[in-house]
This record gives sequence, C-alpha cells and structure tokens, in this order.
Amino acid sequence: MKRIVVVKLVPRPDQFAALEATLALCNEVAGVAQSMRLRSRRALQVALYPRVKTRGLSAQPALHVLRKVADAYTTRQGNLTNGNYGRPGSTRYTAVADAAVKFRPHAAQPFDDRCLSWQMDSSTVSIWTTAGRMRGVRFVCAPWQHELLAARKGETDLVYRDGLFYLYATVDEASPEPAPPPDSAAGWLGVDLGIVNLAVTTDDDPATLDVRWSAGAVTARRKKNAALRATLQKVGTKSAKRKLKTRRRKEQRFATDVNHQLSKSIVAKAQRTGRGIAMEDLSGIRDRVRLARGQRTQLHSWGYAQLRAQITYKAEMAGVPVAVVDPRNTSRTCSQCGYCDKANRVSQATFRCRHCQWTGHSDHNAARNIAALGHRTYRAAQSTVPIAATPPQPAGT
Ligand SMILES: [Zn+2]
Repeated sequence: MKRIVVVKLVPRPDQFAALEATLALCNEVAGVAQSMRLRSRRALQVALYPRVKTRGLSAQPALHVLRKVADAYTTRQGNLTNGNYGRPGSTRYTAVADAAVKFRPHAAQPFDDRCLSWQMDSSTVSIWTTAGRMRGVRFVCAPWQHELLAARKGETDLVYRDGLFYLYATVDEASPEPAPPPDSAAGWLGVDLGIVNLAVTTDDDPATLDVRWSAGAVTARRKKNAALRATLQKVGTKSAKRKLKTRRRKEQRFATDVNHQLSKSIVAKAQRTGRGIAMEDLSGIRDRVRLARGQRTQLHSWGYAQLRAQITYKAEMAGVPVAVVDPRNTSRTCSQCGYCDKANRVSQATFRCRHCQWTGHSDHNAARNIAALGHRTYRAAQSTVPIAATPPQPAGT
C-alpha cells in the first residue's frame, strides 16, 4: 500500500536559497498568467514554457510549475462559477477575479524521479531548482524510513514549513493478506463514530466507556477550543488572527494524536482477537444526526475522516479486514430484535426498543448493528451469490 515518508532536508545556505526561489517561481508564473489572461495548461505551456526554462529548471520541473499554476486557476474559476465569491460584478467576486492566484509559501511542489533522485548511500538528494541541478542536498531520516526510501519510486513533494524544507516521498509498502474473520457477526468489531463519544465499539462496556475518548476529556477540550475560536474570530485584529492560526495548528495536532491512539487501540483489539473491523460509511455522519448548533461546530472541527483513514491504514498494515457499511438506521434499529423506529432512541445516550423493550446505550447498540452489517457486507462481497447488505427500513415507510 501507499505510504508517505517525510524527511527533513538540511541544505547549505546557497542550496536553501535555490529551493526557496524554486517554490517562489510558482507565484511569479501565476502573476504573469493573470496579467496575460492565460488559464489552461495548454495556453500556459505554449506561452510560458520557454520563460520558465530560462530560469534554470529542466523540462519536467518546468512543466510541473506550469501545471500547478494552471490547476490553481481552474480551481479558482470553479469557485467563481459556483458563486463561492458572490455574484459576478460584486466587490468580492471582482477582487478575486482580478488578482493573481497566490500560493502559500509552504505549498507543496511535486517532483518526479527525473527531477529529484535519491542517493541513499550518502543520504542526499539531487534536485532540479532554478539554479540548475543541485547535487548533494543532505536529508536526515530514521533507519526505518531509510529502508522504505531505498525501495521508493514515483513522485516526491518539496514542502516548506515553519522555516524548514521537507520531502514527502510516496513509497509502496507490502502489507499482509487480510485474514478472514470468523463467519458470524461476532467475527466483527463494530465501531460507531459519534459526537459525544468519538468511537464506541462492540467490545466496550457502556457503563465504563474509556474516558479518554468520551464526553469528558475530548469534548471538554473541543468545546473550549470552539469557544476560543469564536472569540478570536470576532476580535479580528492581526494578532488575533495569528493566535487563531497557532491555535488551529495546536488543535490539529491534538486531534491527530487522539485519532492515532484511538485507531491504534481499535486495530490492536481486532488483530488480537482475529476479527474484522466494521465502520460506517462516514460520508453520512453529518446527515445521520440532526444537531444542535454547538454540536455542529464540534463535529466539523473533529477529524473523523482522518480517524477513519488511520483505522483503515493500520488495519491494512496489520492484515485486519475492514468492512464499510451503510450508515442508514444503524442508530434507530434494535440490535436485539431488528425492529427499526426513530422513537427507539429515547435520548442521545439511551436506546429503548419499542418492540422488545430491550434497553441499552445508543452508541453501543449502533456498534452492534454495524458489526452485524459488517459481517453481511463482507459475506456478500466474498460469495458469488450476493446477500443484500442494506439495513432494515424504518417502520411505516
Ligand atoms: Zn428490539
């Protein structure tokens, strides 16, 4: 499977300047493209290729720069057309349309193998810059990264972040064949992703949910952050904006860290017990629950997509199969008798089946439904005669 290895470059001052100039070239080209009204890849290539070439870049990096600029203009045109900057003729629309596209100074610049080559023996790279081919740019990495990089092929991104240059290399890593889980719903660890509890699994005892990812610690911190953000946004001064940015990064690091721990523990649990992991198709998480205003902020600021990606990735590396199930009705269906009714869910936390009277924790009930659906989805995908894997429909429809 594909994986990104990040290594830090340690360039000499002259190399540093050349790398900086290479990344800055994109903004320069974007400026020219704006004033000459060039937008498509083709138009940019025809008009500006010779000019970019004379700046010292060889053919491939020159084309990369032009493509990157053309793609940025295409994205902007899409946003203008979709009305994301207001109506045509409005102040905002005109301001955006009349200005050149600006790349953040740390926007990534892709290089393929012809433009950036790795010398693993000396831990250096050779890279095309505006100063020509620059050899012997040192990088530092861990031994395990070194091993992965030795077998790498394909594109590498050059990224400038917090005053340092990094290389993001795509590597292919071998992962074990997933082991088939036991052929029943018990062969699956159901994971319910939610707002009050980030993740509740079929294994969790609802009475003693791990406080690290429950309503306690994480939610309190998320709420505090959301409130702080709102205040800073209202202030709107330069220093408030700066604080907001630092704050956002800190929050992202916190979310990434929690997601990492959580996904690790979930995958380890499934692997240890030889089970698969069943999760909901997350594109539905925002529609599934109707939320109060405050909750909506929490939901949007949390990295659910990242959490799911981390579980998927770690499961693949561990040979644990993952089943993605239809999220419809998983929180309304009784995991004991299968009766589906919106009224089954009495409150955020409590589920009481109107049919069989079974009472339990809402998220835990959902996790059990997800495990059963995971089993059915997996069986359907394995068998030649597919079994319907859609959840039961609500009563009365
Ligand atoms: Zn029931």
